[in-house]
Amino acid sequence: MKKVYVKPTLKKQLMGGMNKFGNNYYRPIKSEIDGVAVQKLLAEYGSPLFVFSEKTIRNQYRKLHQAFSTRYPNTQFSWSYKTNYLGAICSILHQEGETAEVVSGFEYEKAISLGVNPADIIFNGPYKTDEDLKRAFTDGATVNLDNFQEIYRAEKIASELGKQVNIGIRLNMETGIFPRWEKFGFNLDTTQAVEAVNRISRSPSLKLVGLHSHIGTFVLDPNSYAQQVESMVKFMFDIENRFNISIEYLDIGGGFPSKNKLKGTYLPSDIVTPDIDEYAEKICDTLMRLLPANKYPKLILETGRHIVDEAGFLLTTVFAQKQLSSGVKSYFVDAGINLLYTSTWYNMDIQPAVETKGTPEPVVIYGPLCMNIDVLAESIYMPPLPTGTPLVISPVGAYNVTQWMQFITYRPAIAMVFADGSYGLIRRREKLEDVTKPEIIPAHLALN
Ligand SMILES: *Cc1c(COP(=O)(O)O)cnc(C)c1O
Repeated sequence: MKKVYVKPTLKKQLMGGMNKFGNNYYRPIKSEIDGVAVQKLLAEYGSPLFVFSEKTIRNQYRKLHQAFSTRYPNTQFSWSYKTNYLGAICSILHQEGETAEVVSGFEYEKAISLGVNPADIIFNGPYKTDEDLKRAFTDGATVNLDNFQEIYRAEKIASELGKQVNIGIRLNMETGIFPRWEKFGFNLDTTQAVEAVNRISRSPSLKLVGLHSHIGTFVLDPNSYAQQVESMVKFMFDIENRFNISIEYLDIGGGFPSKNKLKGTYLPSDIVTPDIDEYAEKICDTLMRLLPANKYPKLILETGRHIVDEAGFLLTTVFAQKQLSSGVKSYFVDAGINLLYTSTWYNMDIQPAVETKGTPEPVVIYGPLCMNIDVLAESIYMPPLPTGTPLVISPVGAYNVTQWMQFITYRPAIAMVFADGSYGLIRRREKLEDVTKPEIIPAHLALN
């Protein structure tokens, strides 16, 4: 008899149970951030509270800068605004010498308002309005075009401005990353990218001077970058020859991982995450091998996550506990998933800030939202956590304070521990008028 087809199913392994690497009981306490007591910060600014370390941001940037600038003679670093566009954080990176990488009119305006020179702005992304393009061309910002429609619009706007503008194009290609990011730019593995260059070369108002690509985020294999850079350089040689142009910059985007833990990985992040020097070596070796000695186009890096993720902490406080019907203990804390957008993909670490008595056991940690999906940890080993126990969630510095949502409660304050050991607020807690100010209540709906 023919067997009936049964579709394969994946069974979720119960986290916290034994796996081939054993159990992780050890959860050291995290009582301070750069020497400032967690409890002091909470007492001063309330709970929950985001805290950033100025020292870590500067150190991460300096290590990155050192890794690349010692291996390649012409580098530029550009801060990815969408990773974290808090004014204080962008300012630290601009002080360190980073230019600004923006992907919208809003981010462009934010960079200008922080005092960034428009010539030091790189404008990327699939959607730039006519107004965005006009302003960027007028100001002399660097613009990387994403699609054919954008080329046509850029051409029209530049000719209306009566000038020839320098532009770059974004490329996408096979680099061994799954899933491949095909959404952005022109495809290099077909003729699409050459067609884009061909089209631009026929335009009197556009001049192609740069190649850009950004292959992914949290890219764990340095070889993917070697492939990316090799494809970009070969393409550069090809089009320089065919169209008699000169490429001034190769912008290879961002994507280096932080020491966060992607869901589904067992090993500690220290083991799975390559050092930044390994990336720099692959990238710069490839460049130095392929480029002739007299030509070093500017290598631009738009590193976001790797610089800022580990500099961010979210402090929260236990306010209740409950025993589930399975007998498992659960704790309720005052920070929800609306503040931790990236908890969808990463298992952040949660550490008590104080010593508590008792044996660790697997527990559930719930956020405060009136929603069943508000779970910060499905199964994590914790000692008993009496009400009032402060906890530290990390790393949370990348993509959370840009993608966080005002939902049910106010968004919390953000503090920073400065490089000199002092500390202060860099964003106050929201209040009612922050939420209601943009609202309009039509006259006939007003309550007297
Ligand atoms: C988001 C983004 C970056 C930064 O990516 P990270 O993974 O945070 O390093 C850089 N370049 C572009 C074009 C981006 O969209």
